[in-house]
Amino acid sequence: MPTLTAPADAKVQLTEANKAFIKRANKLLIDGQWVPSASGKTFPTYNPATGEVITRCAEGDKEDINRAVAAARQAFEKGPWKDLTASERGRIVWKIGDLMLEHADELAELEAYDNGKTRGVARYVDVPLSADAFHYMAGWATKICGQTFPISVPYMPGSKFHAMSLREPVGVVGQIIPWNFPLLMAAWKLAPALAAGCTVVLKPAEQTPLTALRLGELMIEAGVPPGVVNIVTGYGETAGASLAAHDDVDKVAFTGSTEVGKLIVQAAAGNLKKVSLELGGKSPNVIFKDTADLETAINGAANAVFFNHGQCCVAGTRLFAEKAVFDQVVDGIASRAKKIKLGFGLDEDTQMGPLVSEEQLARVTGYLEAGKRDGAEFVTGGVRHGDRGYFVEPTIITNTKPHMSVVQEEIFGPVLVAEPFSDEEDLIRRANDTTYGLAAAVWTKDTARAHRIAKAYRAGTVWVNCYNVFDSALPFGGYKQSGWGREMSGEALALYTESKAVIVAL
Ligand code: ADP
Repeated sequence: MPTLTAPADAKVQLTEANKAFIKRANKLLIDGQWVPSASGKTFPTYNPATGEVITRCAEGDKEDINRAVAAARQAFEKGPWKDLTASERGRIVWKIGDLMLEHADELAELEAYDNGKTRGVARYVDVPLSADAFHYMAGWATKICGQTFPISVPYMPGSKFHAMSLREPVGVVGQIIPWNFPLLMAAWKLAPALAAGCTVVLKPAEQTPLTALRLGELMIEAGVPPGVVNIVTGYGETAGASLAAHDDVDKVAFTGSTEVGKLIVQAAAGNLKKVSLELGGKSPNVIFKDTADLETAINGAANAVFFNHGQCCVAGTRLFAEKAVFDQVVDGIASRAKKIKLGFGLDEDTQMGPLVSEEQLARVTGYLEAGKRDGAEFVTGGVRHGDRGYFVEPTIITNTKPHMSVVQEEIFGPVLVAEPFSDEEDLIRRANDTTYGLAAAVWTKDTARAHRIAKAYRAGTVWVNCYNVFDSALPFGGYKQSGWGREMSGEALALYTESKAVIVAL
């Protein structure tokens, strides 16, 4: 049994800085001012380890979105943002990254408290990666270039032209982000948009609004002018839907469920705003018996599914292990799962926190019940842990059939489905037999096989002998129903710029 470090007794000892911040986290950022929602309404954000309310945030809705979009439009069309040089813009973006690192401990504490993840993960993964997104994109601000073209224009013989393309910011951007990596998803969205010269209305997830609001303060401190970044907290069906549908928004960038992604596409159709989507996944993780070190692969597979409590769009939730090592791999992951210490994210010895919300707990346990009804075998876990907070035991399921919902659908919890395989070709077919295509992995020391499989996977990221390796310099996004477009790397700039062809008669 996993050990539960008594979340009921979780003593919340926050830094003074965060205690003070939480008291002022009830405003929206619109046009450089912290203001209450137009309706005066607020909504609660919870500590998922106990279900207790942390604080209440401003509940923005359509009217607040309208005000925020108007501020973003004004900031886009008129100075000072528009008049900054690329270098000046880059320096502001860089400064945001610096301030995040300066406040790394506070941000990590806030993230762990609001989201439920462990303080260690927040401090050593989420915060540094988020700061790096700004540092990385700051460099791009001065390197967003068009091209020149040697045009021939066959129907205008003898004419001469100088032809080029300009890359210009796409305009006012609506960004809607999820709760699994609240700060990191804000960074992945904001950093390229700002580097490109766009202005933004950001809608954080209602489950985890706190770090985005704190980031808003740091952005003002870094010198982001009024109206360039607006932050409207509130619910998806109201604030999020208004933002996605707004006629004066030029582009919407969304990370979240595939189901809501489809709603975003519909909402965007009104003014045909540009859309980029980073959606769900059901990623295959394949272990061959020839892997260099089976223990490393087993650790990798456990990390692939249990990292961030399985609340990762790239989670390696479908494990395929070659028949000869299948039992050993499953036993290895199960023994690791049983030792994981569940508890309050801010407690020192916690290794896995709660799921983010009551709704998510119901969703994950609903899948577990469905798996049991369908006749799958539970090697370990399969139930809620305790009766307070939103904990689920790390779970491994075997003896599944392809049609089962635990095999087909994204569960977004610490739940692994493991299947044996014996034939490479059949394995590839099964690994790709999903509507998603976000990530995939393979563990083998046969180099040719590694490359063969990496090419055969229909997924946006493939890890070979590793998992969960992310970097600001790597493009990230999905094939199939895992999304449209690539975030991070130089490719993200394409999402936030338009290309304009300019032809000058000579
Ligand atoms: P999950 O189902 O994992 O909670 P969602 O896809 O529902 O993830 O949420 C991701 C983000 O999308 C959140 O900020 C949420 O508020 C927002 N959202 C939810 N529904 C809508 C909607 N209909 N239109 C726009 N945004 C939405």
